[in-house]
Amino acid sequence: MRFLICLVLVSFDLRFLIFMKKLLKISLGLLIVLAILLFVTYQSGTEGDLKIYFFDVGQGDGILIRTPSHQNIVIDGGPDNAFITKLGQTLPFYDKTIDLMILTHPHDDHLFGLVEVLKRYQVKQILYSGVLHSTDAYEEWLGLIKEKEIPVKIALAGQEFVFAEVKLKVIFPFEDFTNVKVDNLNNTSVVVQLIYNDIKVLFTGDLEEEGEEEILRSSIFDLQSNVIKVGHHGSNTSSSENFLQQVLPEYAIIQVGEGNKFGHPSLRTLFKLERYSAKIFRNDLNGDILLESDGQEILSRTTKP
Ligand SMILES: [Zn+2]
Repeated sequence: MRFLICLVLVSFDLRFLIFMKKLLKISLGLLIVLAILLFVTYQSGTEGDLKIYFFDVGQGDGILIRTPSHQNIVIDGGPDNAFITKLGQTLPFYDKTIDLMILTHPHDDHLFGLVEVLKRYQVKQILYSGVLHSTDAYEEWLGLIKEKEIPVKIALAGQEFVFAEVKLKVIFPFEDFTNVKVDNLNNTSVVVQLIYNDIKVLFTGDLEEEGEEEILRSSIFDLQSNVIKVGHHGSNTSSSENFLQQVLPEYAIIQVGEGNKFGHPSLRTLFKLERYSAKIFRNDLNGDILLESDGQEILSRTTKP
């Protein structure tokens, strides 16, 4: 009898121990989930601010737009893999989605870094001109888009892309460049205007005066914008007086590499921008440039003062 009671007591103790062990495991699991959730919330930050990063990628363009509801738009990817590194450092570790990738034109200083973005991120849509150009990087970029079956839109003036509270309007080109060979790729640049409440930002790629004239002649769009990403790295072949008179920018961003061999930006363009009292930021002097906006005001931050 005593033996039986002992057996019952031992088995009860054992079951209790197993139960406690399970409870401990579940609590630990819950604690880990809670910690991850808190971290994710902290990383996401508060909603409500538009962020535009003009990364210092050397001589080239590399832009990330993060909308107030945390959608990601990439415009160009710079001449090497500096862009993917900056992207990884900027986006939360769990966010591997690019909602829209825009290639303004397929010169390597805009395209090259985008190849790696296609490999490492889930890109939902592509916007580009469709223009013909034969370089290894462009072929690889096009091949990856096909392989991953990413939806592609050929850019045409008048198209609109809506990301909740942020709208992107395509301003240029006016013609379909699909499989068209051109002499000057710069003048096929996809130009878009971002609109977020009272704030407008104009991204011009490498568009030169000839393309600017075409936009002005069409007089379809209200070009006035608080910010301009200055065309063609501040070269004197872009930013005509007539064009700037329509844009009237308060901020001018020049994506340009330190000591570049082209002598960008040109002094003539800098003088013109200063005449419009635009506050000028340059990647070669200011490092990475971040503009933040609540839809009314713009705040700027740079990694170099
Ligand atoms: Zn360029």
